[in-house]
Amino acid sequence: MNLNVNYDNLEQSYLFSTIAKKVNEYIQNNPDKKVIRLGIGDVTLPLCKTVINALHNAVDEMGVQATFRGYGPEQGYDFLRTAVQGYYKSHNVDLELDEIFISDGAKSDLGNILDLFGINNTVLVPDPVYPVYVDTNIMAGRDVKFVDANGENEFLPMPDKNINADIIYICSPNNPTGAVYNKNQLKAWVEYALLNNAIILFDSAYECFISDNELPRSIYEIEGAKDCAIEFCSLSKTAGFTGTRCGYTIVPKNLGKLNKMWVRRQTTKFNGVPYIVQRAAEAVFSDEGQKEIKENINYYKDNAKIISDTLKDCNIWHVGGKHSPYIWLKCPNNMKSWEFFDYLLNNVQIVGTPGSGFGKNGEGYFRLTSFGSKENTIEAMARFKKLFK
Ligand SMILES: *Cc1c(COP(=O)(O)O)cnc(C)c1O
Repeated sequence: MNLNVNYDNLEQSYLFSTIAKKVNEYIQNNPDKKVIRLGIGDVTLPLCKTVINALHNAVDEMGVQATFRGYGPEQGYDFLRTAVQGYYKSHNVDLELDEIFISDGAKSDLGNILDLFGINNTVLVPDPVYPVYVDTNIMAGRDVKFVDANGENEFLPMPDKNINADIIYICSPNNPTGAVYNKNQLKAWVEYALLNNAIILFDSAYECFISDNELPRSIYEIEGAKDCAIEFCSLSKTAGFTGTRCGYTIVPKNLGKLNKMWVRRQTTKFNGVPYIVQRAAEAVFSDEGQKEIKENINYYKDNAKIISDTLKDCNIWHVGGKHSPYIWLKCPNNMKSWEFFDYLLNNVQIVGTPGSGFGKNGEGYFRLTSFGSKENTIEAMARFKKLFK
């Protein structure tokens, strides 16, 4: 018996456990102080009414012989694939039904997709980054190269002709920075991928936060992308499905064998998303569902604006917050990320996430999120102003 020794190459992630430890210690020593958490990376508003109704109806169907469902199609029910197809159509992207794969979320598919690629590929990942892209490749034994996202490029790195990449990760709107690529910038990545015969793995988990029609919500809004990109999306952040679990992955037929290979991979290793959950997801794409999830997203976006307006007022450099629940700021007075974490916690009892936890270029930066309550966000920003204005 041999173990997969690649696991030994993973870096231990102490980020969230260290945050929890520091916050718990602080609360124990200062029981009278109110700590406000702006580090939350999870939605907090409940599922919307239309989704809950769909869930109830589907549960009832499962209790009646005539409407009971057993195994469903591994790629998802046609009613949901059709709904996703219609959603893409609404931002001018035409997809065929068998290019759409329903999943239990983007994280698993981002990992699973690597089954389709050989070991000897050069993987290009932006730094800072959502850790899943790096760790899934390390587990498989692949080398990862980084492309620098930093203040100079406003955390939107562009392709470097001197690097030959085969697999390229792009996340826009970005976690952790909240930065969003415009059409021309994405076009440059698509052209680079086509030139290098590379594939782009495009993570659009936060597409719903985009409110400017000029900014692309899907990479397929860029000409040529169907020849070089797989797109991963999820209802987690857009409709509050982090605990309900449903996403979708687009593998265009233009990618040659990859579409058939993904069908084979899924039918072999996956048995589909629960019927009940797929009915809930279908409801998200109804007119009523879309209206209701927009209200929730707008609630988070209002919080993001409160944060970003405060930073502007305090002359603190930042990106994100406009088309994203995340705000990525440069720590004032050249503090390091953890130094700033301690400073905020000890002086104004605000918890955020040190940027250094997302990669070396995150050092000196800090992530705040808008997933808290409006009241807490307002109070936190009032405290912030006292320190920095
Ligand atoms: C939250 C998140 C996802 C969604 O993951 P799920 O497995 O669908 O919950 C995907 N990508 C990024 C960058 C995220 O932050």
